Amino acid sequence: MNAITAIPFDSARLDAALARFPRQRAMFINGQDVDADGERIERFSPAHGVLVSSVPRGTAKDARAAIAAARRAFDTGPWPHETASTRSRLLLKVADLIDRDRDLIALMDCLESGKPIAQARGEIEGAADIWRYAAALARELSGDSYSNLGSDRLGLVLREPVGVVSIITPWNFPFLIVSQKLPFALAAGCTCVVKPSEMTSASTLHLAHLLAEAGLPEGVVNVVTGYGPDVGAPMTADPDVDMISFTGSTAIGRAAMAAGAATLKKVSMELGGKNPQLIFPDADLEAALDAATFGAYFNAGECCNAGSRLILHADIAAPFLSELAERAAQVAVGDPLDEATRVGALISPEHLGKIEAHIRAARDAGAEVVGSGERLSTDGLFMAPTIVAGVTPGMAIAKAEVFGPVVVALTFKTADEAIQLANSTDYGLSASVWSRDLDTAIAVGRGVKAGTVWVNTFMDGTPELPFGGYRQSGLGRELGRNAVKDYTEEKTFHIHTGARTSWWLPRT
Ligand code: NDP
Repeated sequence: MNAITAIPFDSARLDAALARFPRQRAMFINGQDVDADGERIERFSPAHGVLVSSVPRGTAKDARAAIAAARRAFDTGPWPHETASTRSRLLLKVADLIDRDRDLIALMDCLESGKPIAQARGEIEGAADIWRYAAALARELSGDSYSNLGSDRLGLVLREPVGVVSIITPWNFPFLIVSQKLPFALAAGCTCVVKPSEMTSASTLHLAHLLAEAGLPEGVVNVVTGYGPDVGAPMTADPDVDMISFTGSTAIGRAAMAAGAATLKKVSMELGGKNPQLIFPDADLEAALDAATFGAYFNAGECCNAGSRLILHADIAAPFLSELAERAAQVAVGDPLDEATRVGALISPEHLGKIEAHIRAARDAGAEVVGSGERLSTDGLFMAPTIVAGVTPGMAIAKAEVFGPVVVALTFKTADEAIQLANSTDYGLSASVWSRDLDTAIAVGRGVKAGTVWVNTFMDGTPELPFGGYRQSGLGRELGRNAVKDYTEEKTFHIHTGARTSWWLPRT
């Protein structure tokens, strides 16, 4: 592989960014800024090593206070009873405020997570679009009626908000992922407690203030910062919580479901993936190469949807991988504040260590590592885009979610073999099929167990289309036309009119 394309640092640019970024932050509970009793969590930019934010280390007591506020706001507040028009207008106002603060929010996500600023800006624009889509769905939410039950009976099916929702989010898309949940819960009339990752809380706390500015009543949305076991765990077990909406790893998702099971909470789970990109010899290989590079290295591979498993037809595998290596070397890695950067810093030294361990194990198992497979010799947490070739289906790296700028390559000879390989992990989030033959693309796409199948494209998204996983990639779907319904309960009204036919008197 060629030398990587490194983007240099610029200290004046960093100083200017930090000047716009309030570092000291409070939690947001019942409409008030709330500090922790004592400890705080400091976040240093993984790219620059400087302090970018400090949030309270919330406790179970803080989680309890937030849940109580959300419970009160649901049981006695106006929000669940507002008209669809009022809720929709508020969501639209929030979208406008997100647009207004786009650059600031993008800066928060960029500096806390290490993602490139241009990409972060795109994510905030996408998030505003989701808030607008939720506003439209708020007006459409309706139940059902049955007038065909006989002249003395009428059936109505009402949609009511499910209640208090615990929303737990990860660090890889801090603002985008909360925006895939919160506006739909609010559109339904729910109240919420949100816990962002302790590493990337700033943009979610900012959002809480935008909601207040838009006029959301106090207690409807509360944000508690802190660690999973201290804050997230009580949010999944508390009897006053009616639903858990979680995005994160499969292991923690399973624990959250188990905690919620004691009180039979409704759950929505968006979990991990090891997503195959199946490439047939008749594909537009130029487009497939571009998408493979994007799919593997977008967000430094810290993406549940990453196209982290190339499944290549044996006839094209060698030239495809050699071209991919050329492209991977041209991906701009470095300072996430630079507009040209495409791969920024990884989230933490621990995470980078885990990625390196995956690569070492693959090398020991006989795979060929193209690219260094190691951290770059800079101060920040950077890693060169890497390819692991010669992977066999039994190797750990063929199945494990690496969550870094690492793509593995396997080969197939027949379409059946391609499908079998695609389905050979525990996950089932997304997949892509590349072929100019629509018969092949559709047959293979139907055979793959995945919540999303892209044909001749990769990682396109729009709020209109549902998103979620098969198997251990999740439970339920986000976005799409049912996104608000997921935050509702159905209530059946069975109405009788006119005289009742007696149960016990003899019929005359
Ligand atoms: P984690 O599962 O470690 O954490 C997710 C969230 O859960 C964090 O806020 C975390 O807090 C919290 N948490 C931790 N322990 C508990 C607990 N016992 N009870 C309740 N909440 C808890 O995931 P990461 O943040 O590491 O994110 C990466 C993972 O997320 C990857 O596996 C990725 O595939 C998946 N993901 C899935 C997506 C999808 O839509 N399918 C999208 C994005 C990511 P804390 O940070 O303090 O530990």
